[in-house]
Amino acid sequence: MPAITRPRGTNDLLPAESGLREWVLATHARVAGAHGYELIDTPVFEATEMYERGTGAGTDVVEKEMFSFTDRGGRALTLRPEGTPGVLRAVLSAHLDQARRPVRVQFAGPMFRYARPQAGRYHEFWQLDIEAIGERSPALDAEVIEVAWRFYEALGVTGLSLQVNTLGDLEDRLRYRAALVEYYTPLQDQLCEDCRRRLGVNPLRLLDCKRDAGLVAAAPHIGPSLSPESQSFFAEVTTLLVAAEIPFQLNPRLVRGLDYYAHTTFELWHESLQGAQNALGGGGRYDGLAEVLGFPPTPGSGYALGVERTLAVCREQGLGPAPRREQVVVLPVAGTDIPAAAAVARQLRAAGITAILDASDRRLDRRLAAGARHGARAAVLVGADEAAAGTATWKDLDSGRQETATVADVAGALRLLLTGQ
Ligand code: AMP
Repeated sequence: MPAITRPRGTNDLLPAESGLREWVLATHARVAGAHGYELIDTPVFEATEMYERGTGAGTDVVEKEMFSFTDRGGRALTLRPEGTPGVLRAVLSAHLDQARRPVRVQFAGPMFRYARPQAGRYHEFWQLDIEAIGERSPALDAEVIEVAWRFYEALGVTGLSLQVNTLGDLEDRLRYRAALVEYYTPLQDQLCEDCRRRLGVNPLRLLDCKRDAGLVAAAPHIGPSLSPESQSFFAEVTTLLVAAEIPFQLNPRLVRGLDYYAHTTFELWHESLQGAQNALGGGGRYDGLAEVLGFPPTPGSGYALGVERTLAVCREQGLGPAPRREQVVVLPVAGTDIPAAAAVARQLRAAGITAILDASDRRLDRRLAAGARHGARAAVLVGADEAAAGTATWKDLDSGRQETATVADVAGALRLLLTGQ
């Protein structure tokens, strides 16, 4: 029988890698937490209609990439392709924004998109997300960008490039839309199939096209379509970034072609990531999204950062948690010593030590060697004599030093050895 294989576009997180991901997630939770972002969690699947309305018809995600299904009750559901609509739904339906504005929330979790798998692009991937809901201010946009920046700084990642742009407000975009239609209409024959279709529906989306890159490069910028208010909103965001000493590049091509996006938009790129997959993450302001989902108008700003791409950059730059060898292996000398050894291991754990009981029937010297090989800093031996006397013998696997003492004293000595306190 052929062995079962992993579904296409998915990854296993094996123990050798889990420490790195845990460190990345914990660092993000700490940095976002220091800015006041509290943990939130929402379902992994939601009503398909939420993404059709929220993420938007006319996006690649909704048109081609959703994992949608009908449940046994006939409901149309979708595995979440992004986090923002679900978080906004959760926050607004619990009326959190009535008690406090903005509501600052953060989360980490898996997302699902049916895009052709390749390096840095999977069917299942993780995102780190923050959302600040209920306030329209340049300061909040600058804050959201700063949290992402400080997160990568805390990891020690270098070589980042922060791209920022503004999409103005709805009226600015109507003017910009008209300018794009005027530019693209005579060029229709040169457009790819998707772009030709989208020109009538949502011309801003054409600026995302990789195939028509030459045409995109020559397309008009949004600048001349911006009202003085939108210009000053964006000027304030960039002034705050300068004051925070966060370097950035203005990128007029950075667009989100949906009506509910507004003002600030940004992406973080990394030099080591390839081609179309060079973005670690991105975000911006989405002031019209709440209404699209059927809630009262509520402004919001946030980001999503890709965990797998962040891990790839950390690996490439040799970043990760400080290596730790904080465990001990507990070895019954003979099979009959297993209950006494298990009791010693229990006492050590109660004293805060990671104690792994090796009750296999291999020879003692083999078990000692295996313990050292798998990262134990010390071994604790329990034989008939120790069991009778209520003691244990511990051995420093680096120096070879060995000592017999009461279990309480052994626990104290091991704690000192493992943690220095
Ligand atoms: P987006 O929600 O499309 O702005 O994506 C934000 C970030 O999530 C991207 O910059 C990537 O780091 C990550 N991401 C998006 N789609 C995928 C995918 N299919 N596989 C892996 N990471 C992804």
